[in-house]
Amino acid sequence: AVVVRRRMRSSGRWARAEGVVRELEERCASPAGKLRQVADAMTVEMHAGLASEGGSKLKMLISYVDNLPTGDEQGLFYALDLGGTNFRVMRVQLGGKERRVVKEESKEVSIPPHLMVGSSDELFDFIAAELAKFVASEGEGFHLSVGRQRELGFTFSFPVRQTSIASGTLIKWTKGFSIEETIGEDVVVELTKAMERQGLDMRVAALVNDTIGTLAGGRYYDNDVVAAVILGTGTNAAYVERAHAIPKWHGLLPKSGEMVINMEWGNFRSSHIPLTEYDQALDVESLNPGEQIFEKIISGMYLGEILRRVLLKLAEEAAFFGDSIPTKLKIPFILRTPDMSAMHHDTSSDLRVVGNKLKEILGISGTSLKARKLVIYICDIIAFRGARLSAAGIVGILKKLGRDTVASSGSEKQRTVIAMDGGLFEHYTKFSQCLESTVKELLGEEAAESVVIKLANDGSGIGAALMAAAHSQYTELEES
Ligand code: BGC
Ligand code: MG
Repeated sequence: AVVVRRRMRSSGRWARAEGVVRELEERCASPAGKLRQVADAMTVEMHAGLASEGGSKLKMLISYVDNLPTGDEQGLFYALDLGGTNFRVMRVQLGGKERRVVKEESKEVSIPPHLMVGSSDELFDFIAAELAKFVASEGEGFHLSVGRQRELGFTFSFPVRQTSIASGTLIKWTKGFSIEETIGEDVVVELTKAMERQGLDMRVAALVNDTIGTLAGGRYYDNDVVAAVILGTGTNAAYVERAHAIPKWHGLLPKSGEMVINMEWGNFRSSHIPLTEYDQALDVESLNPGEQIFEKIISGMYLGEILRRVLLKLAEEAAFFGDSIPTKLKIPFILRTPDMSAMHHDTSSDLRVVGNKLKEILGISGTSLKARKLVIYICDIIAFRGARLSAAGIVGILKKLGRDTVASSGSEKQRTVIAMDGGLFEHYTKFSQCLESTVKELLGEEAAESVVIKLANDGSGIGAALMAAAHSQYTELEES
């Protein structure tokens, strides 16, 4: 009788667990029809954001980059990349058209979490100090021309209202950062003051978003790069727009006729986006409620957290992990996307990796194979929704560029290259594969043939250095 009762109890649990997962699946559904609506909404919002300041959830920020790299850039330049969980400093010796990148060195430093939510000065002092140390280690192979000041491309991966190529005020923080006093401040001034406090003599020659840096870095190696997408801790996209298609731009028409736009697509929102109770709760409890909704269902900072929330629901509603709720499962952000990815890619027959991760991270041991399979199934739902929505976003951009159909690319095949960067795309294979196949699904095989998504690993560093070179105070490249 005991056995029977237990089995009944456990089958009741299963039914409830399956119910929770079935509902999640329905709410996350993203069939092609819905994705097309998302892509169309993206295109519409792009127009609205370009038309007027504040005209859309998409800020469509003007980058002041109207000339992408040519290959002629020369000299020693530094770059600093602040945006995710790490920041990176780099130096590069550019050798012009023939020699290109002669030498390059970089260093990655993880940011102590308390600095992301502390004071402005502390954060900028920390990065300036790391930069100063790095500059001090400059050795053979790098040459600064006599009498010159070192120059820096500053990749700052947050929404900034630029006032020139080398200045701009922070609109808001995103991802894991939240420092009230920096909002509205010029981040170049903040960095410059911190460098002065460190006794570091360096000039910020260019301030760029990571999408802009990636676009510039991508263009340096491939002339067909017209857009860049970041899928990492956060997510965003940038692309090359025709200057006269930007009604809100009242500045001079650039010679190139082009202007790179930082879309800030992480803040995109549309009624066509499938949202769940988990997303809503995550948003409400986040550092930036109501903001960055697209980002919160797509990017690396959040996927693991969504999974945690679903598992917690299973524990609560279906006693999925036994009679008591595992305490660790209640800790926000304890389950990171790289761990989710490791579980999702588990190919062992007994799903050993899933079992180990649940045990190590959440303290849940003794899970059955059936339970582990359900965890994988949930990973599918969460990761594929994010990947498919990213694909829809990309298709939205291609539509805006008029590069989404075979006919639009003219008689000769015009290549369209999207430079991609970010740990989510790079390391979460199931995510990136799903993204690429969804782009094909939405464009059709033939139109998709001329669209290339190219991983530009850490392209934003070199891109920022290239932008610094282009805007150096010692312009060698005389305008012709
Ligand atoms: C920021 C963007 C950035 C993206 C990727 C987002 O949270 O708002 O500026 O490009 O993350 O790093
Ligand atoms: Mg980055």
